[in-house]
Amino acid sequence: MHNRERELRPESRMMSYAYKAALSEGAIKCPIFQTSTFVFRSAEEGKAHFELAYGLREPGPGEEQGLIYSRLNNPDLEILEERLCLWDGAEACAVFDSGMAAIATTLFELLRPGDFLLHSNPLYGGTMHLISSVMTHFGIVSAGFETDDEQTLIEQIRASGNGDRLAVIYLETPANPTNRLLDIAAIRRVADLFSTEERRVLVVVDNTYLGPVFQHPIAFGADLVIYSATKYIGGHSDLIAGACLGTAALINRIKGLRTFLGTMASPWTSWLLMRSLETLKIRMEHQTETAWMIARHLSRHDKVSHVYYPGLLTEADGRQYEIYRRQCLSPGAMLAFEVKGGEKEAFQFLNRLSIIKLAVSLGSTESLAEHPATMTHAGVSAAEREALGIGAGLIRLSIGVEDVNDLIWDIDHALSY
Ligand code: PLP
Repeated sequence: MHNRERELRPESRMMSYAYKAALSEGAIKCPIFQTSTFVFRSAEEGKAHFELAYGLREPGPGEEQGLIYSRLNNPDLEILEERLCLWDGAEACAVFDSGMAAIATTLFELLRPGDFLLHSNPLYGGTMHLISSVMTHFGIVSAGFETDDEQTLIEQIRASGNGDRLAVIYLETPANPTNRLLDIAAIRRVADLFSTEERRVLVVVDNTYLGPVFQHPIAFGADLVIYSATKYIGGHSDLIAGACLGTAALINRIKGLRTFLGTMASPWTSWLLMRSLETLKIRMEHQTETAWMIARHLSRHDKVSHVYYPGLLTEADGRQYEIYRRQCLSPGAMLAFEVKGGEKEAFQFLNRLSIIKLAVSLGSTESLAEHPATMTHAGVSAAEREALGIGAGLIRLSIGVEDVNDLIWDIDHALSY
């Protein structure tokens, strides 16, 4: 069958989708358009480009937004955005120069003073700081929730007295570092319950941990999906980037603010991300296969008291297992485990590693280990860490593409203190 009659999988399209070789001297790969500005063929053309960019009129038949200036648009950025849409089944995408830029630009576009932002707990520390220490200066009220139970969440919103001001429910699932899962479809129902005809409560999901290959929040009712593209999408620990995907109407609003904040990704970063997208699925699949073997190995180790990994959930885990089976296509390559003892034992393990690098970040080709209680989650109060299951003996691992037996050898050696 010819591919014009066949719905191709995203991984089959990452090498060429949205790129027209004829516009670039036949080059098989999209060049790096390392330019700040674009020459107009005439004053009339420049005028037409700006009319569309500023929404002063609707495009004519077959008319497309022309290139103006790389803070607004650039071929590398635009082609990358079109490719990213394929994984999540999104209408539109905006790429940013960091995950935090994606989160901040999105939330500032969606929220107004007095609005109520409800978020899952725990969140990535930078997001938590933005919400609780920056957005508060702009009159945005927020509260966190831990429950995965729909009714409990509804009661919490009612009890807060802010239900009529609820504008956004923001979640991370699986949660970093404990891999605790939230039911996106249930949260959509909660958002609908508090929506009115004039105002839809928006559900925004940070999908960095499993996406874009293994979890598709839009299919479960999310309005927007966010990524730190620094992680799996970039995948080589050599760039910082972010993305937000959703309906064209919402993404156009977010791109509008991006233009004026200047938080878009550069041509070079966009080009690197396109290169990374070609191997995204094989990297994630291989990393997951290795992580799964390591999780099983750790769960049998006598120095380990618990392993947090979705692939180890069983029916006995009840709701968590049910969410995993319905919402996730695979358990991913992030895992956490508790060593018996506390910080002393955890640090002994970390200091004895040789292949696995002691560094924060995740989703890269090299395996990384860190200590959430004193590193990524150091800003979370001790009481909250306790409530969230982030103990002194907890280690987080991001599994890379190394040989599984080499990694197990490294882990066993590090655990033999
Ligand atoms: N979201 C999650 C889940 C993260 O882990 C991170 C970074 O670690 C971010 C967002 C922020 O992304 P960036 O570091 O690319 O700004």
